[in-house]
Amino acid sequence: MTDNPAESATASFRSDMTVELVKHSAADSDVLWAARVSTAGEQSLEELTKDPERSKGLINYLMRDRHGSPFEHNSMTFFISAPIFVFREFMRHRVGWSYNEESGRYRELQPVFYVPAESRKLVQQGRPGKYRFVEGTQAQQELTGKVMEDAYVHAYEAYQEMLDAGVAREVARSVLPVGLYSSMYATCNARSLMHFLGLRTQHEQAAVPSFPQREIEMVGELMEAQWTALMPLTHAAFNANGRVAP
Ligand SMILES: Cc1cc2nc3c(=O)[nH]c(=O)nc-3n(C[C@H](O)[C@H](O)[C@H](O)COP(=O)(O)OP(=O)(O)OC[C@H]3O[C@@H](n4cnc5c(N)ncnc54)[C@H](O)[C@@H]3O)c2cc1C
Repeated sequence: MTDNPAESATASFRSDMTVELVKHSAADSDVLWAARVSTAGEQSLEELTKDPERSKGLINYLMRDRHGSPFEHNSMTFFISAPIFVFREFMRHRVGWSYNEESGRYRELQPVFYVPAESRKLVQQGRPGKYRFVEGTQAQQELTGKVMEDAYVHAYEAYQEMLDAGVAREVARSVLPVGLYSSMYATCNARSLMHFLGLRTQHEQAAVPSFPQREIEMVGELMEAQWTALMPLTHAAFNANGRVAP
């Protein structure tokens, strides 16, 4: 049975992504003391009290020469709410990431669905790996919104019909589409985040351009903005060196 059928029956539609930095221990100085243990041993910890601006050159050198491990001694935990198709892509990133996602077995999934905003380019041109996206017509915009919303409502009614008949949530969820929002905690470090950003965002300073789906890029952009505030020197060096993870 549903917990609250009246409340859960109303579908809502979103075009945005939620990314909240809920926990962190991450600063440019973490890179410095980890790197300087090579030459200063235990005295490298003194780096923690120094002005990180003075060590900009060292961070840039580590990034340029791809000495990657000093960028792993930090941690960021993000709460992310995004459609399931974004999470499918996200969880392909295996190294330096920990995930916990809400369960479709233990809780009734809420009817929150993705509908692209008007700014989302709808029409794909070109060949795989080199797609270009262009604006859709007004008719394509309207059709997409209407067809998606109708399909979502229909699918969620089918889900609820099964729950109301006593079918287990883990079975009934099969009818729900990948446009359904899910939520998770994702924990990473600066090195694994840079690898993710190099693949899942587009940027004029990228030495190796990638062609990510726009929706995961939206998540990546929000993560990048929050990471930049914590580790501005590392972020600047990442950009200056072609946005390739060290
Ligand atoms: C634009 C784009 C399109 C994509 N299209 C598809 C698609 O059509 N189909 C599809 O299945 N996937 C697709 N992917 C996913 C892609 O193949 C990767 O799984 C994903 O980007 C994660 O990258 P990663 O493996 O480098 O990251 P991580 O899993 O985080 O790994 C990080 C690094 O660790 C090393 N590593 C990790 N595991 C191994 C291993 N088993 N053996 C050796 N080295 C390892 C590699 O150096 C790797 O780069 C796409 C990704 C992008 C960005």
